[in-house]
Amino acid sequence: MNEYDSDRILDIANEAGYTPTNNLLETDCYVLNTCHIREKATEKVYDDIGRIKKKFRNQKKPILLVTGCVAQAESDEMIKRSNYIDGVIGPQSYHLLPEIIKKIENKNKINLTEFDTIDKFDKLNTIRNSNSKVSTFLTIQEGCDKFCNFCVVPYTRGPEFSRPIFEILSEAKQLIENGSKEIILLGQNVNAYHYKNYKLSNLIHELNNLKGLERIRFTTSHPKDMTDDLIETYSTCNKLMPSLHLPVQSGSSKILKLMNRKHNINDYLYIIEKLKRKNPLIKFTSDFIIGYPGENQSDFNSTIDLIKKIKFINSYSFIFSSRPGTPASNLKSEQIEILKERLKIFQKESDKIKINYRNHLVNKNSQVLFENKLENQEKYFGRNEYGDPVIVESKTDLTGKILKVKINHFNKNSLFGEIENNNKRDFAA
Ligand code: SAM
Ligand code: SF4
Repeated sequence: MNEYDSDRILDIANEAGYTPTNNLLETDCYVLNTCHIREKATEKVYDDIGRIKKKFRNQKKPILLVTGCVAQAESDEMIKRSNYIDGVIGPQSYHLLPEIIKKIENKNKINLTEFDTIDKFDKLNTIRNSNSKVSTFLTIQEGCDKFCNFCVVPYTRGPEFSRPIFEILSEAKQLIENGSKEIILLGQNVNAYHYKNYKLSNLIHELNNLKGLERIRFTTSHPKDMTDDLIETYSTCNKLMPSLHLPVQSGSSKILKLMNRKHNINDYLYIIEKLKRKNPLIKFTSDFIIGYPGENQSDFNSTIDLIKKIKFINSYSFIFSSRPGTPASNLKSEQIEILKERLKIFQKESDKIKINYRNHLVNKNSQVLFENKLENQEKYFGRNEYGDPVIVESKTDLTGKILKVKINHFNKNSLFGEIENNNKRDFAA
């Protein structure tokens, strides 16, 4: 979502007379867009500010704004700690950038951390989304009312808000006109999307009918909102890709309860089963928190059992990070050495599953949507149906094309292959 926000900040800054630059020494205004989901984010911001300060030691100071969830959480404290910062702007206030910059040019310091989500999107709707990436993000929902005990999102992004469906479709059409072929719908709880009688499933159906759009994905979903109508779209909407990121966090129902996740492992397994029934090609990715307070060896073993059972093709794992202000912030986990060991075991196991999955793709065909040429190389980068990175050599421009690619080999990051001559579409099952 920060990537979407950063692109929109650029669109708004454009309106205020600014253009993007790679020339870091001739920059008039820096916007540090930040994430607060795990610790160390705040210190990273101050490190970046230190680097910018050093660069401009003998020059006129640029305007420096901190946006995003660190700004929201730290608020005034940031300006007190570093007077190099001119403005602290929460994720629901960046639409006010032109006015903010004017005030800063008049030597005012700014702190804007209200939750004005409706105002923000009203303003964003008046500015064309200029993003022309082949695969592009589109925010449809923000905020969260679920309050998992470990998570800062409800406090930094605010309550759940869903954008009106006609605004989303209008922005999607802009993106398609700009050349986008794939839209990834975004929300902290994307499947909690509801506007009047429209749910995420209705939106996917509408997008499925848009000419020029080839692929649809959505992220991040909460298991509790994986309703039957949404599950059904995996068999009725041909543009919806057969992969789903469905964070589970732990394989132990006891830990899920302590986390206030509002689902247990049986609920999760039932959802997976229903999805597979609707589309047997579907594959899953997930997030895991290792060492949540109360997790013992047996709970951890249940997490390992779960990844072996579901065979997630990608697992994102993090050691529990205590976030100030959340209910879990004062709870004690096991010793850090034990948690690091568990993380190592988890990642070894999830890597094995991933390698096994990728081995099955070798010598088979994948449908790849090509996104861009690699810098200074005659190679193109794209993604298969499951979102795996694929690289092929080509002298002709492949950008924006969906082509059948025979996968030859892979490494930790990417799959490698060659374009098949007979380019008829089918899936690598
Ligand atoms: N809404 C999604 C859901 O309910 O699963 C998750 C969104 S959250 C912004 C992204 C991921 O960050 C989570 O799935 C979780 O694994 C991780 N995360 C959030 N808070 C964390 C914490 N305090 N410590 C470690 N990981 C955390
Ligand atoms: Fe955070 Fe997701 Fe839980 Fe909301 S549902 S509190 S975003 S982890």
